[in-house]
This record gives sequence, structure tokens and C-alpha cells, in this order.
Amino acid sequence: MRFSQRLDGIAPYLFAEIEKKIQAKRKAGIDVISLGIGDPDIPTPAYVVEEMQRQVAAARNHGYPTNAGLEEFAEAAAGFYRRRFGVDIDPAEEFFPLLGSKEGLAHVILAAADKDDIVLVPDPGYPVYSSGAVIAGATPKLLPLRPENGFLPDLDSLSPEDCEKAKLLFISYPNNPTAAVVPEGSDFYNRVVAFAKKWDIMVVSDNAYSELCYGDYVAPSFLEATGAKDVGIEFWSFSKPFCMTGWRLAFAVGNREMLSVLWRLKTNMDSGMFEALQRVGAFILNGPWDFVGEMNAVYARRRDLVINALQSIGLEAPVPAATIYIWVPVPEGYTSAGFAEHVLDQAAVVVTPGNGYGPNGEGFVRISLTAPDARIEEAVTRIEKSLSL
Ligand SMILES: *Cc1c(COP(=O)(O)O)cnc(C)c1O
Repeated sequence: MRFSQRLDGIAPYLFAEIEKKIQAKRKAGIDVISLGIGDPDIPTPAYVVEEMQRQVAAARNHGYPTNAGLEEFAEAAAGFYRRRFGVDIDPAEEFFPLLGSKEGLAHVILAAADKDDIVLVPDPGYPVYSSGAVIAGATPKLLPLRPENGFLPDLDSLSPEDCEKAKLLFISYPNNPTAAVVPEGSDFYNRVVAFAKKWDIMVVSDNAYSELCYGDYVAPSFLEATGAKDVGIEFWSFSKPFCMTGWRLAFAVGNREMLSVLWRLKTNMDSGMFEALQRVGAFILNGPWDFVGEMNAVYARRRDLVINALQSIGLEAPVPAATIYIWVPVPEGYTSAGFAEHVLDQAAVVVTPGNGYGPNGEGFVRISLTAPDARIEEAVTRIEKSLSL
């Protein structure tokens, strides 16, 4: 068979080796605890499941959906952006449903970039930004996220040649995997808008963790910045705030031109979102949000548990103000992969090596808080033991 060259540039799956090891250990009867993946252990709240059951039963939802999205869903998203971020969204033209953010991220690149174009992606970053660029035939240009810059990209460090070739810039705060946030009062998003205007670059803000904040921190939206809608769009997903990763429910809001080309592309690839699901999306956005606060209290407790345990073995990880991750500098003498391997072999705990998210992830591992409290406690106890050997 002769396949497309399109996939040749996609890096081999970096976690494949770890997965093989986990399987071997489990087969051998070893109790492996995974703090590796960012998939909530908490189920979707019952009130959401019950609404879905009602909507699935309604015959009006059974046909092909309108591809541009139901008015009801668009208006609920606009209402949410107004209440939560103070951002005005025109539901008719500045909203588009997504079958999860992931497909949107990959498709927006196909809609925006051609061969030889540059796509600016954070390093470390969510792997789809780079692999989506490669699939589109474009060139991902890595923007280092460094601890000394609070894991924000240094846009001024790019060469004018690269800026001229760049079509698209991905940003994502609160950030996966570094757990960094845009600090309150920061002018970062204003600088992004100015940069995008100067070089005619489209911006995609991936705001998957806006609601998963701790203490007093409240994450902003990129669209709050003046002029943001002239240059970009933002993706917002139900996956993390409502523990709905399997449902594939998200939306994009912002620049109408970008959304209309995304729509043009996607009408040729999928037939829109199950209307039952769109109505559930509207129902969630319009309804009470107590679930999110309760869930965040659970994550905050787990976060403190892990941070304290890490401190007791001399590992100083910054206390995250948001997300479900802890980005841990590995002990001296270890690489990311070496430390992840040590922890897996000696403690039967899975953590994700940071270099899997890009070269600048080297020297870190990511711990995900998506396991039950007792399992996290057991995991940190085992890691402590394995390092004091
Ligand atoms: C989890 C996550 C998402 C959500 O993706 P969905 O496809 O909506 O489930 C988006 N971006 C980042 C960075 C994430 O970690």
C-alpha cells in the first residue's frame, strides 16, 4: 500500500514505550497507579446525564443537525461569555460548535495554513498544535515556554522572517502541561493582539481550563483583550469542567471570518453536532455551576497532597493556580524519561515525561490529579519511598 506522505512528519507516539511497560507490569500482577493522563476520574454530573437522556428521547433531535449550530446553543454560549468574561459574542456569526476542541484545533490549521506557512506553537504544548500543522503540510515553529518567563512565550524573540511566514499562533492558559496561568493584571493578551496585528497572524486561544482555578485566581479569556476578536478565536470545552471528555462537546467563539472558513471546511468533513448534545450544552451553560466549584475543591485537596509530598522529598514544584496538573522539575541527575522510568519501575506509578510535549519540556514530568484521593496518596507515598532508597 502506498500511503500519503502527509503523516510522515508526525513524531512517533512518545508514550508508546511507557504504555508497553505499564501493560507488562499489570500482566505481572503489579498494581500500577496512573497519574499520567488528563482524563477526569469523576463521572459526568448526574443532572447532565439525565438531561441528555431526555434529549436523546426527543425525536426532533434525531435528524442531521444544522451544521452552523443551534441558536439555543449559540445564545447560551454568548450569555456565558458575557457573564463570565464580560465579552460580547454575536450568537449568529461569532459562534461555532466543535466536536471537542481537538478536532477544531486540527481543522483550523487546515483552514488557515498552506504548505510553507509557519504555525507558531508553544513548547512544551498540547501535541495537536504541532501534529495538526504537519498534517496540513505547514511547518510548526516552536515557541519556548520557560519558567523564568512564567511559561509565557517570548514573541519578541521571533525573527521577522518567521513572523512574516507565520499564519497562526496557538496560546493556551491556564496551560497544559505547565499549569501556568496568565497572571491577573498581565498585559500578555494585549501584547498578543498587537503582535498578531503587526504581522497579520491569526490567533487561536485554547481555553480548556478557564473554570479549573484554585483559591482567588479567576482565569481570563483572550477575547477580553481589546481588538482580540479582530485577530482570533477562542475554544472552550466542556471536557474538563464537567468531566465530559467522552462526549465531544466544545465550541469556538470570536472572529467571524475565521469561524466561517472553519465552517466551510467542516461542512465537507462532518455533519455537525448531534442536536441532543447541543441542547445539553445550552442547558449546562445556562444552569447552576455548583458542580464545578465542588470538583475544584476535590482537585485542590489532591494538589496540596501532591505538593506537600513532593516538598518532603526535596522537589520544589510551583503550586498551580489552575488546571489539573503539577509540572514537576525532576531531581538532579535525571532526565524526564529517566525519572518517569524510575518512578514506574520502583513505585509502579505513571507520570508523564515532559519532553513528550516538546524539547522545552525536558527536565520536567507532569503529574495529573485525575485519580481518586486514596490512589494519589498511595502514589505519593510510593514515590517518596522510591526516592529515599
Ligand atoms: C483536555 C484539553 C482540551 C480539551 O479537548 P477536547 O477535545 O475538547 O476534549 C483542549 N486543549 C487542551 C490543552 C487540553 O488539555
